[in-house]
Amino acid sequence: MLRTTKPAFYILCLLTALLLTGCGGSSTPSPEPAAEHSVEFFAMDTYMSFRFYGGDASMEKQLSSFVTDMEKELSVVREDSAVSELNRSGSVQLSDAGADLLRQTLSLCAETDGALDISVYPVVRAWGFTSAKPAEGSSRIPARDTLAALLEKVDYRQIRLEGNRVFLPEGMEIDLGAVAKGYAGGAMAVMLKDAGVESALLALGGNIQAVGCKPDGSPWRVGIQSPDKDGLLGVLSVSDRAVVTSGGYERFFADDDGNIWWHIMDPGTGFPAKSGLLSVTITGENGLACDALSTALFVMGPDDAVRYWQSHRDFEMVLATEDGRLLLTPGAAEIFEPDENLSYTVEVIRND
Ligand code: ADP
Ligand code: MG
Repeated sequence: MLRTTKPAFYILCLLTALLLTGCGGSSTPSPEPAAEHSVEFFAMDTYMSFRFYGGDASMEKQLSSFVTDMEKELSVVREDSAVSELNRSGSVQLSDAGADLLRQTLSLCAETDGALDISVYPVVRAWGFTSAKPAEGSSRIPARDTLAALLEKVDYRQIRLEGNRVFLPEGMEIDLGAVAKGYAGGAMAVMLKDAGVESALLALGGNIQAVGCKPDGSPWRVGIQSPDKDGLLGVLSVSDRAVVTSGGYERFFADDDGNIWWHIMDPGTGFPAKSGLLSVTITGENGLACDALSTALFVMGPDDAVRYWQSHRDFEMVLATEDGRLLLTPGAAEIFEPDENLSYTVEVIRND
């Protein structure tokens, strides 16, 4: 039997926590605490709140300009954006960042076998999730033949990217809303690190990007919203990671029979994805991949999401299922602290 004194046990736990999170602890405090900077604004249809320690204040403007420039290029609701031009004319020249984002996204569309499909946009619009004043109740459900006609144009494999120029087949339209915030978070983390900032927390709505650790050397604690009530499922402790949640609880409507329809679509059916999941949280090093996978695994449902993780393993996840289970990858379980009022049954996915 392994016997250990309590202090030795605590030191072991502390070391494990440091190894898991990569945080350096507060053993070598810097002579002066780094100055805190923060910036808050509305963009990409959500509330942005960035906090960083060190660097200089001009970074605040650089970060907000980066996001607003991305929005100007990629937004589907702005008629003057490059993506709107693409959707109207079938071709457009993107910036280097825009082309990089699209290239990575197309490879994730393929990797998820089309559960992520950026050409599903006309279907999203038919359900009224992008229009300013959508209809209410059952009148908002598109007719089956309308959806069938729209689905004929849904196929990311027909999108061509040559250099920075993108081409769509006749009638296809795309939307990068499922990945843009994740990409932006990842790109800003690189900008901050290049400027010598070692500690930052970027909240792009529910998309979180952690840079380094907290200034005191402990990991950032990121709450995961509960899908069915106010409050949290729990908290993930992370450093240098994105944490992205997709769920059906934020943008949805109820039809006249009380059915709930949300904004994440199954590109196979043209209907909001009802796959047995209420929310999907992904944490990993690549912000865009986390954002893409939170949407795609929500579409796949719990069984396929677990299979996807088992064959990739370069991210961790927390799945909240409709039947009251919280499924965690082993790596997520190590950094997850359940909320004290958690009503889900926690299950850790087997590591084989
Ligand atoms: P949010 O943007 O609310 O954080 P997501 O990252 O999951 O949530 O992205 C959802 C958005 O992506 C939708 O509003 C819609 O524009 C688009 N979308 C919906 N379903 C899909 C899909 N299967 N593949 C790609 N994009 C999708
Ligand atoms: Mg997403």
